Amino acid sequence: MTDPKLHRYPAKEQDPAVCSGNFEEVSLGYDPETAVLEASRCLHCKNSPCVGGCPVGVRIPDFVARVAAGDFDGAYRIIRLNNSLPAICGRVCPQETQCESRCVRGIKGDPVSIGRLERFAADHAAKQLSDEPAVRPAAENRRKVAVVGSGPSGLTCAGDLARLGYDVHIFEALHAPGGVLIYGIPEFRLPKSVVRDEIAGLEKLGVVIETDFIVGKTLSIDELMEEEGYEAVFIGTGAGLPRFQGIPGENLNGVYSANEFLTRINLMKAYSFPETDTPVRVGKKVAVIGGGNVAMDAARCAKRLGAGSVTVIYRRSEAEMPARLEEIGHAKAEGVRFMMLTSPECITGDPDGNVTAVRCVEMELGEPDASGRRRPVPKAGSESDIEADTVIVAIGNSPNPLIGGTTPGLEIRSPGVIVADEATGKTSKPGVFAGGDAVTGAATIILAMGAGKKAAAAIDEYLRGKTRR
Ligand code: FAD
Ligand code: SF4
Ligand code: SF4
Repeated sequence: MTDPKLHRYPAKEQDPAVCSGNFEEVSLGYDPETAVLEASRCLHCKNSPCVGGCPVGVRIPDFVARVAAGDFDGAYRIIRLNNSLPAICGRVCPQETQCESRCVRGIKGDPVSIGRLERFAADHAAKQLSDEPAVRPAAENRRKVAVVGSGPSGLTCAGDLARLGYDVHIFEALHAPGGVLIYGIPEFRLPKSVVRDEIAGLEKLGVVIETDFIVGKTLSIDELMEEEGYEAVFIGTGAGLPRFQGIPGENLNGVYSANEFLTRINLMKAYSFPETDTPVRVGKKVAVIGGGNVAMDAARCAKRLGAGSVTVIYRRSEAEMPARLEEIGHAKAEGVRFMMLTSPECITGDPDGNVTAVRCVEMELGEPDASGRRRPVPKAGSESDIEADTVIVAIGNSPNPLIGGTTPGLEIRSPGVIVADEATGKTSKPGVFAGGDAVTGAATIILAMGAGKKAAAAIDEYLRGKTRR
């Protein structure tokens, strides 16, 4: 008889036929009974290889053991020792390439569902522990630190510094905090209430968040340090500048960057228009260019906003798609069509300047490139048109050059990428630290959080060695 513990317990999900018509969360997570059963699959390996796969070092076997024992609050407290945003990570970390990829259970069967258990513990605790006081009184030592950007790197850095007793202020350019968690990742994958609850937890610790504040415009980093009394600054400004392919037709009506499309939907709630005041135009035939999480989010949003057909165009094969497996699976189940090994050559339009099609060429895989992935090469004479009245370009983002251009002494690597030490986040400018997508280019939430955590420890060390102002 096969060992029943070889396979993971599935989590409940909305029916794809229903969920492709609403913005409610698709994955419903574990109930307490299933969480206990799944947690009981853990072998409590002595050397805990799973922990090495987590960029913030969550004590996985310890928290999973608490779930298995039915002590869900205890599990949450263990997770919180290393991770200030567990309800978010449990939902959107690429676990299959991080903690779960190292799980010993995965050698002969399915790895333990670490992410789902983390989400379960965090959601349970949010219901039970919401009135708990802050872990430590805010601003114990009254030394001021500024955090620029309220994405996962900034929030993590701010939380860790507040717990150490610093007076932390986050400056955020947009009108709501959360970075990509709020303006990029859709409600059906990461409910905004979850993000707001996690941010409220940081505010309880004493972190002050100032929105509509563009550092480099409202005030510069030098002004924050020299005139406003901040003794150190962490830059976590992300990579929010959309890239385009540079092919003809990208200026036609109906062509969006995924950034604009998703921001209109997530931050401005275009799906509730006219109750909200920012609309988004989605046609009948939508083409999405790209193969990452951003492309999957854009495609699934377009489906929900009533597009008749949504086609993802990706120039490599499915095995090379950078999107999370779960998201590709959900997109397929919801009726998104995939055209692999297909590369856009130009976007065509009608005489009024509206998009009509994406002209593509078929690709085949050649020799591996610098990234180790096989390079796609065009097949001669294979051009064809994919009809479209809306095209969403989701081929990546770069950091915004504003901070680099307004901060003398801050070393920048093109295009706008801040140079910072990987272990500490130290930049070329004394007292200024950086991390997350602004340093690495577009990456993942947990890597950004890991960078925020390392920088918080380095800022603490820096300020301890520096005379108080
Ligand atoms: P961000 O989250 O980009 O936050 C930066 C913040 O800084 C923003 O709020 C911005 O407004 C603010 N800012 C910028 N400039 C200034 C300034 N001058 N002054 C003040 N504030 C400023 N990763 C995953 O792990 N899993 C996923 O499923 C996933 N899905 C994604 C889906 C989408 C649509 C996108 C776009 C990304 C996704 N990612 C995912 C990647 C992940 O979200 C990022 O790697 C992560 O958010 C980076 O965090 P960050 O803190 O560096 O920056
Ligand atoms: Fe895994 Fe992410 Fe949780 Fe770390 S934070 S244990 S990588 S799900
Ligand atoms: Fe449990 Fe897997 Fe970690 Fe082993 S590697 S302790 S089985 S989660």
